[in-house]
Amino acid sequence: MSSGTPVYVTRSVLPSFEEYERHIEKLFESRCLTNHGELERQLTLEIRNYLEVPAITLAANGTLALQLAIRALALNGKKVITTPFTYVATVTSLLWEGCEPVFADIDDASCCIDPEKVAALADADPEIAGILPVHVYGNACDVRSLELIAEKHGLKILYDAAHAFGSELDGKSLFSFGDAAAGSFHATKLFHTIEGGCVASSPQIAETVRLLGAFGHLNDDYLLAGINAKMCELHAAMGLSLLPMVPDIIRSRKRICDIYDEELAPAFAACLRKPLLASGLSWNCAFYPVIADSAERLDRIIAALEKEDIHPRRYFGKSMTELPYLKGQSCPIAESLSRRVACLPLWADMPDALARRIAGIINSNLA
Ligand SMILES: *Cc1c(COP(=O)(O)O)cnc(C)c1O
Repeated sequence: MSSGTPVYVTRSVLPSFEEYERHIEKLFESRCLTNHGELERQLTLEIRNYLEVPAITLAANGTLALQLAIRALALNGKKVITTPFTYVATVTSLLWEGCEPVFADIDDASCCIDPEKVAALADADPEIAGILPVHVYGNACDVRSLELIAEKHGLKILYDAAHAFGSELDGKSLFSFGDAAAGSFHATKLFHTIEGGCVASSPQIAETVRLLGAFGHLNDDYLLAGINAKMCELHAAMGLSLLPMVPDIIRSRKRICDIYDEELAPAFAACLRKPLLASGLSWNCAFYPVIADSAERLDRIIAALEKEDIHPRRYFGKSMTELPYLKGQSCPIAESLSRRVACLPLWADMPDALARRIAGIINSNLA
């Protein structure tokens, strides 16, 4: 029996209405609603301070943030190594920038791109110009090994850090690694501006990103063929309202993760595992992924939960090597994993009892 409302993989976090109203009230006086307004500028500073990176450029969404960064790093039109185990936006961003994605399979334990596979591809093909790894689930890629490969071959590294807001490696935000990192502030992410994104980079690259995202002109000087990727004031206001809540959001999510860890002990002993987190990582608890030992086992668990109107998500249920418009490459580890992984429901103010109930359903449907 289900008990009322359906349960999805996440619920968007919101500030109090009064807090949001406090920020947007000013707009009704100033009537400056977009074009790098006061709230957008303030949020830029606050996110830069929170992440402790040299520069932040806000964008209308995470996909455009990726595309702007690809161009600012002059990777457009080039061959770029990326991971097959990600959300489709990583790959479509490359395609929209005319890049040729070259897939390096993942490390089975961490679910992030395998540096040995990256090195082999870079050694074999002098046309490779960059690497676009993803900090999957807020876990950290092997940033040191990737740096060495990039140095050896003169490659740019752009991290897709859409899951990484609030994750730190050895005390440094994951946004501080690589030549640039692109973030997503979509409503389903841990911190959000409803729709939104950012690029973290050096101040020089930030200048290009900002110019590209605002039509490529500065007053009457038409410098680059840009696009409109600006974040408007209503979105920035949501970010300003939520940013101070981020430490609490991460703490609350961790509490739910701890409950899952404890309650799912029988499942972990039998047939489930979790991705192995990087050592030195202070994890943001962006997702609660579980990996089953077989596709059939995962199918049974998901069916049992769905019978109770609980809907985990298959993140990521398809390896990017299997996209119908991108055939011809194969990454067996990602292809196998994508059939055996799902993310359990997780949000900041999720009731403890719900996490216990979900774990109980899983434990009693292992066989
Ligand atoms: C959410 C997400 C994106 C896209 O971000 P949007 O803000 O939704 O455009 C890109 N890459 C990954 C890995 C994501 O999870």
